[in-house]
Amino acid sequence: MEKLLNISLLLILNSVATSQPVTDPVAFLRCLERQPTDPASPNSAVAYIPTNSSFTTVLRSRIPNLRFDKPTTPKPVAIVAAATWTHIQAALGCARELSLQVRIRSGGHDFEGLSYTSTVPFFVLDMFSFRNVDVNVTDGTAWVDAGVTTGELYYRIAEKSNVLGFPAGLCTTLGVGGHFSGGGYGTMMRKYGLSVDNVVGSGIVDSNGNIFTDRVSMGEDRFWAIRGGGAASFGVVLGYKIRLVPVPEKVTVLPSEEPSEKEPLIL
Ligand SMILES: Cc1cc2nc3c(=O)[nH]c(=O)nc-3n(C[C@H](O)[C@H](O)[C@H](O)COP(=O)(O)OP(=O)(O)OC[C@H]3O[C@@H](n4cnc5c(N)ncnc54)[C@H](O)[C@@H]3O)c2cc1C
Repeated sequence: MEKLLNISLLLILNSVATSQPVTDPVAFLRCLERQPTDPASPNSAVAYIPTNSSFTTVLRSRIPNLRFDKPTTPKPVAIVAAATWTHIQAALGCARELSLQVRIRSGGHDFEGLSYTSTVPFFVLDMFSFRNVDVNVTDGTAWVDAGVTTGELYYRIAEKSNVLGFPAGLCTTLGVGGHFSGGGYGTMMRKYGLSVDNVVGSGIVDSNGNIFTDRVSMGEDRFWAIRGGGAASFGVVLGYKIRLVPVPEKVTVLPSEEPSEKEPLIL
């Protein structure tokens, strides 16, 4: 009996491992509709497939590196612009069911285009609708959603306080989701370290669709991994709780132009 069970298990695992990816965009939409859904925001309503007129606009909206925006660049079967946790769970459910790879995109600044290209059939899970920043000046912390850009984060903090800031990248269009998960260095690094040195909590959805809303529930190992290890290997980051740092009330910025050999600087 035990032998029979082992053989059945082996057959099941083998069929899962060799199942072919389903690349039909309509099948992807049908799959989203089969997943648990919130009637107020159906899963398929946030999905774009190539026949939608806005598909290309949405896809290109966060492709800063034009080397990955060629007609020959592999395109996703669909883009899921998740706005709720249910949308993320549904997208991950379809990734499993249809054997598609998930490319999670926050700011799209991945140097290799890994958040929107792939050599195997895939779809993009876009986090740009996760855009909330909640600044708590009293305890000097903030919650920042994965789809927020670094520029938006700096702006929202400055709206609440001119003596608090956050050490992160120079470029203001980086997505917090990818930027923090890779470390995050910027002008305040010498004084306050990397962004991840000032991340005190996070929320994540794992590949099975389980939601962990804080550091305790996700466990210290996972919390450690998503702060520098590239979060896409561990799940979909919903956002980060960060510790704000003191900054001077006034900052002086001076432009400096370096003369080049070709073009001497004439003052
Ligand atoms: C013009 C430019 C300027 C830069 N300047 C700086 C700088 O000053 N300092 C610095 O430290 N770095 C800098 N970087 C590097 C940048 O921090 C990384 O490329 C970072 O990964 C970008 O994050 P993103 O969300 O914008 O990119 P994305 O392309 O969206 O994501 C990058 C990676 O993270 C994964 N990912 C994204 N969101 C999530 C999520 N919610 N959950 C799980 N995984 C996710 C993606 O799948 C991908 O693998 C710069 C990059 C560029 C192109």
